[in-house]
Amino acid sequence: MVALRLKSPAVSSTDNGANSQKVTDIVKGVIDDIRANGDKAVRSYSEKFDKWSPESFKLSDAQIEEAISKVSPQTIADIKEAQRNVRTFAEAQRASIKDVEIEIQPGVFLGHRNNPIVTAGAYIPGGRYPLLASAHMTILTAKVAGVKHVIACTPPINNSIPNATVAAAHFAGADEIFILGGVQAVAAMSLGTETIRKVEFLAGPGNAFVAEAKRQLFGEMGIDLLAGPTEILIVADKDADPFTCATDLLSQAEHGPDSPAVLITESEEVGRETIRYIDEQLKTLVTAPVAGTAWRDYGEVVVVNDMDEAFRLADEYASEHVQIFTKQPREALEKMTNYGALFLGEKTCVSYGDKCIGTNHVLPTKKAGRYTGGLWVGKYLKTQTYQEVISDKASGELGRLCGRCSRAELFEGHARSGDLRSSKYLKDSYEW
Ligand code: NAD
Repeated sequence: MVALRLKSPAVSSTDNGANSQKVTDIVKGVIDDIRANGDKAVRSYSEKFDKWSPESFKLSDAQIEEAISKVSPQTIADIKEAQRNVRTFAEAQRASIKDVEIEIQPGVFLGHRNNPIVTAGAYIPGGRYPLLASAHMTILTAKVAGVKHVIACTPPINNSIPNATVAAAHFAGADEIFILGGVQAVAAMSLGTETIRKVEFLAGPGNAFVAEAKRQLFGEMGIDLLAGPTEILIVADKDADPFTCATDLLSQAEHGPDSPAVLITESEEVGRETIRYIDEQLKTLVTAPVAGTAWRDYGEVVVVNDMDEAFRLADEYASEHVQIFTKQPREALEKMTNYGALFLGEKTCVSYGDKCIGTNHVLPTKKAGRYTGGLWVGKYLKTQTYQEVISDKASGELGRLCGRCSRAELFEGHARSGDLRSSKYLKDSYEW
């Protein structure tokens, strides 16, 4: 399928495995300690990993107001505009989710309701950048779904409160805001401590430690998905613009040194030119220390024989973000099913999705796009069934069926619940 590899990742899958085991062990140690020692352990890890130990991790109303007052009016306006887009799309998605009720046979009703989760945690990353857009994506989406109480956690940046993130969390509707990051935040919200309320569900992206903490704690609370280090993949035909390919690949490589950036193209020339422009752009990009490392260690350029192969290979990668630079970009909607989000055509890009266009940026990584989409209102809803039988005849007949089905499985107790109803509601019923 692959005609030529113009660039392979420098980091092998074995290195990845060793790193993953280290992360797994560190995260387990932190979770065990917080489970046993609550707030005391939370504080010690915040001191250790973030050098952050304020009197209270939770912000007071006055601290929230002060943080907002330090954000420029333009940034506040931009936050509000981006949130309008996220809210409008989330509301449209919510409206598409319907409750169901059918009369499956006369007098027998089956239905489901979509009930919001009551308390949710929102993790807003901030180790490297104040990822304030994650506040729109997690908190706002939870509120549109109808979640009553949303707790937001975000790490300090350079030993201080990330003001714009606090503003975004507040405008998105967070009920409580904590300046707390990493595994200690995820564990505190998932397990509950003396001062942090336990949540039923936790959503939000984060680095490898955050994603691993969510994985280990899943079951004690629900999670959205494993939204680890950002990934980008571009599918480009021979007419794609290599300069744009280079710019957009670096736009995601700058997320972190472990962010994969992949180009799949039918054109060797587009591939070679993209590599050349990346090297050139890295000379002036201020985030080059991160983006350059990601490109060196996780960057790939693959040349395939034709565009059908390009789409097939892209589907195998199941990347978080997939940009389509072809003449008919909508063809990807038919040709691909494994991805976090598609960005169709050169007039849009992953950065629009990350920051402001309105689709959710919390998306599946590490091939999780094979079995889940990204965060959306549906993740905050529980689809719960109910049933009612109002007809004697239907109840009695179901009782007989249930009795036979249960005895086939050797469940005598189940069978008797069926027998009881068949004898009560049908004349010629079983005796027991
Ligand atoms: P982060 O908030 O996820 O992580 C910062 C925290 O990591 C710190 O508060 C610290 O407590 C903890 N930490 C750092 N080093 C540690 C160590 N050695 N041991 C234990 N804990 C440690 O912020 P970040 O690091 O900037 O990462 C954000 C990530 O989110 C990036 O990888 C980005 O690609 C990803 N992201 C993913 C999506 C998605 O939807 N998949 C969206 C946006 C961002």
